[in-house]
Amino acid sequence: MANNEEVFKKIISHAKEYGFIFPSSEIYDGLAAVYDYGQLGVELKNNIKQYWWKSMVQYHENIVGIDSAIFMHPKIWKASGHVDAFNDPLIDNKDSKKRYRADVLIEDHIAKTEDKIRKEVEKAAKRFENFDEAMFRSTNARVLENQAKIDDITKRYSEAMNANDLEAVRQLILDLGIVCPISGTRNWTEVRQFNLMFATQMGSVAEGSDTIYLRPETAQGIFVNFLNVQKSGRMKIPFGIAQIGKAFRNEIVARQFIFRMREFEQMEMQFFVRPGEELKWFEYWKDTRRKWHLSLGIPEKKYRFHDHEKLAHYANAATDIEFEFPFGFKELEGIHSRTNFDLSRHSEFSGKKLQYFDPELNESYTPYVIETSIGLDRTFLAIFSYAYHEETLEDGSSRVVMKIPAILAPYKAAVLPLVKKDGLPEKAQEIVDMLKFDYMVQYDEKDAIGRRYRRQDAIGTPFCITVDNQTLADGTVTVRERDTMQQERILADNLNAYLHGKIQPLKVE
Ligand code: ATP
Repeated sequence: MANNEEVFKKIISHAKEYGFIFPSSEIYDGLAAVYDYGQLGVELKNNIKQYWWKSMVQYHENIVGIDSAIFMHPKIWKASGHVDAFNDPLIDNKDSKKRYRADVLIEDHIAKTEDKIRKEVEKAAKRFENFDEAMFRSTNARVLENQAKIDDITKRYSEAMNANDLEAVRQLILDLGIVCPISGTRNWTEVRQFNLMFATQMGSVAEGSDTIYLRPETAQGIFVNFLNVQKSGRMKIPFGIAQIGKAFRNEIVARQFIFRMREFEQMEMQFFVRPGEELKWFEYWKDTRRKWHLSLGIPEKKYRFHDHEKLAHYANAATDIEFEFPFGFKELEGIHSRTNFDLSRHSEFSGKKLQYFDPELNESYTPYVIETSIGLDRTFLAIFSYAYHEETLEDGSSRVVMKIPAILAPYKAAVLPLVKKDGLPEKAQEIVDMLKFDYMVQYDEKDAIGRRYRRQDAIGTPFCITVDNQTLADGTVTVRERDTMQQERILADNLNAYLHGKIQPLKVE
């Protein structure tokens, strides 16, 4: 783990050094859990958005997109349940004055116990190979004991949370002997509920004007536009509405870089279906989203599904796609079967009937909804942290290479004249001009070619195109591929088609 922490630190400083991500307001010492995307970060982020949008909206004839406002009528958050229930339980340590999420303290404790079990089982498996049966038996008893502990904690924890019994949550933290990692003490305050929505005022006079909220999710903008889109687009069920946009949550403990931010972006799609068909579509979207992730070429073992055992009151199925970040497997995307909860609540609170007349069934109903909701920043972090590699080369030198999937890389190619004379820079510039309408390309003539390759490796440019004297003679260039460092010679005139052929998502069955 210490090792992973080191790597994670390096990833964060790499992101800053090369202009991917900067702490917000850095010259004023930053603002907690808020980040700015730099000149390369914005390219990677835009490419992720575009790839998601294409796969949802362009690829599916029955999905359209919208871009709804961040400010919305305050009643929306009453109807959605966010005003009353979008809370996290918080607890403070009186000695360190540090604040924690009570649920996270307990979940981390469970994860540690699970880790212990995993290690015991691994050890036991090794011993079993050596036929040390007695050891295996005793280990097995410890495994069972730890498992029973987890079951007991999980039961007490979900009973306390379901009953909103904050005193029982605190008691569990005390009984488990959980200490503050800073002070090392068990001197905890009571547990309080904390609403995660940011509130502000609309209108020139704050006093007396309505409190409105910065949206904590983009989904509600889709629900309240359901009828507008369905009618104006003559959409037939099943159909979906997609949206990418900012969301805001006043997270109690915001850490782990861009994993948990107070201002972040979501890419959400709500898919409206006939009542009774939702579980079939839930499976469809689970599989479709799995394929989307795998199409980026990141190995399947980096992902896992985590089905929710405890469902939100409005859901009848839910799963998370978790990714193995440097700090372990954590949620990247949620897929939820939300029943007809949202549309029904908005009908009730607005007094407008949000129904669909199904011509095939000759009846009206409130559609059911499958939601896919993925954090854009978390996707960025998943790709960026997976891409980071330190390699020692055959000649003993080393390089940092960002193996960003070509389709998402900020620059697709760099054009490099071998030397700064003999007409090579002019020829290289010609190639840049030929490619730049279709691709982000960078021209670089400074330093020795090896150093220029390293610079492109460090920002994840998949192809380096080198222009040399032979180029002037026969019109060919060398193309160096980032991951393998293999070079091939091709006609400069074929570069556009060459790049097009290489910059493609993987096909996943
Ligand atoms: P978590 O349990 O990690 O707080 P969540 O279950 O509250 O996440 P959802 O409400 O399902 O998250 O939001 C959908 C997606 O939005 C998440 O899968 C995640 O990728 C992203 N997301 C949620 N909160 C944040 C945040 N504070 N910073 C960055 N991304 C976030």
